[in-house]
Amino acid sequence: MSANTRLKDLHDLARNKASLKIECRTCQHVRLFHAERFARFCMLRSWNPNLASLSTRLVCKQCGARNAHLSAVPDKPGSDPFPQGEAAWKQLHRRLRD
Ligand SMILES: [Zn+2]
Repeated sequence: MSANTRLKDLHDLARNKASLKIECRTCQHVRLFHAERFARFCMLRSWNPNLASLSTRLVCKQCGARNAHLSAVPDKPGSDPFPQGEAAWKQLHRRLRD
């Protein structure tokens, strides 16, 4: 991953094999997510995968603040909160549609 690559949305991150780093501006809580899996999650929820618009939508798990600082990092993501396997993704899709 080049330092001067402009990464605007989760698909850009996925293409660059980068993870999404979400850093809370209030409590400094940091979480790392798998960009491609996060992109799929956004698609199911009809969320814009643009990093700027995501930062206003995401809420810090620890303190409830918004407007986290989103960036691309080469590190491996930590915990994975997304559905495991195709069946689980389809189940989530059905749940969101109803
Ligand atoms: Zn926080």
